[in-house]
Amino acid sequence: MRAVQYREIGAPPEVVEVERPVPGPGQVLLEVTAAGICHSDAFVMGLPAEQYTYGLPLTLGHEGAGRVAELGPGVQGLEIGTSVVVYGPWGCGTCHACAQGRENYCPRAAELGIQPPGLGAPGALADLLLVDSARHLVPIGDLDPVATVPLTDAGLTPYHAIKRSLPKLRAGSTAVAIGTGGLGHLAIQLLRHLSPARVVALDVSEEKLALATAVGAHDVVLSTADAAAEVRALLGGRGAQLVLDFVGVDPTIATALAVADVDSDVTIVGIGGGTAHLGFGTVPFEASVSVPYWGSRSELIELVELAHAGVLDVHTEVFSLTDAPRAYERLHAGTLDGRAVVVPSL
Ligand code: NAD
Ligand code: ZN
Ligand code: ZN
Repeated sequence: MRAVQYREIGAPPEVVEVERPVPGPGQVLLEVTAAGICHSDAFVMGLPAEQYTYGLPLTLGHEGAGRVAELGPGVQGLEIGTSVVVYGPWGCGTCHACAQGRENYCPRAAELGIQPPGLGAPGALADLLLVDSARHLVPIGDLDPVATVPLTDAGLTPYHAIKRSLPKLRAGSTAVAIGTGGLGHLAIQLLRHLSPARVVALDVSEEKLALATAVGAHDVVLSTADAAAEVRALLGGRGAQLVLDFVGVDPTIATALAVADVDSDVTIVGIGGGTAHLGFGTVPFEASVSVPYWGSRSELIELVELAHAGVLDVHTEVFSLTDAPRAYERLHAGTLDGRAVVVPSL
């Protein structure tokens, strides 16, 4: 079968032939219908050799959708042909965190050598994907796999980040989203659907801001050194109750802290390598800064329900498997409209 692999530190990904995987006990083999491309892949492929921990060659793709093709010994209750999406942050399945579906925070995954598909285990940018357990599959019924696959990360990560802050998003509150790409354009929609907050979006280009407006942002601001002052001017001098930074570089984290209100949540989702400087007088009183990772199994199930309810307008640009390296170039250039999704059958 074909797979898109990162094979050499610093080199671009390549489409290669690899052996067809065989599902072992408890495992499920999917015929991939769609696989999303995340900016975290670019982060991983940008790491120097001494910080790279995902193994080589690495089949990329941690957003996966597929049809059940083959069941390993012992797998029951799953029909061949079922259309599913894959919950990516695999955990041990039995610890306290995993028992709550919060496998993204499984404390045993590292010691057991469990890694997500595309971030250690072979990923979804291939004709077939091996999933370690049927519990990591969420059936999607007749939903379009292309529009649904980004929910597994570009949707799930902001959904988790927003849900934990919903009590702060009362009527009259403001949420700021910095970076309106794959994650950000879904965050704006989730904020609009789940809360009465005014939503202010920041990005570096007019095209990205147009996307933010199209998906529901009340206000958009170019992300420059003056952005924080502009946001505060919009808010009559006040700050935001939730700031979501989908970039995570020093300048965006500085903007995030500068637009936060007293008692706010400043949530850094982007893996840009920046740092927040906290101290008395440098951040608003009782602002909480956190760096969440992905989301829980039940949150992915909830998102699929939201997709069935038709509340999400997932913007995608579709690529064939052989064209996947070009999708990464477009991601790098910052010219994608929403999420790049690879469809192996094209
Ligand atoms: P993306 O490339 O689709 O979107 C990033 C957006 O940020 C683009 O629209 C870009 O124009 C914008 N941007 C870049 N610099 C900016 C700046 N200085 N100010 C404002 N906007 C700026 O990326 P994505 O796939 O949506 O991922 C976003 C970030 O989230 C990445 O860093 C990714 O690695 C990270 N991520 C984290 C988690 C997690 O669990 N914490 C999960 C998924 C992705
Ligand atoms: Zn990701
Ligand atoms: Zn666990």
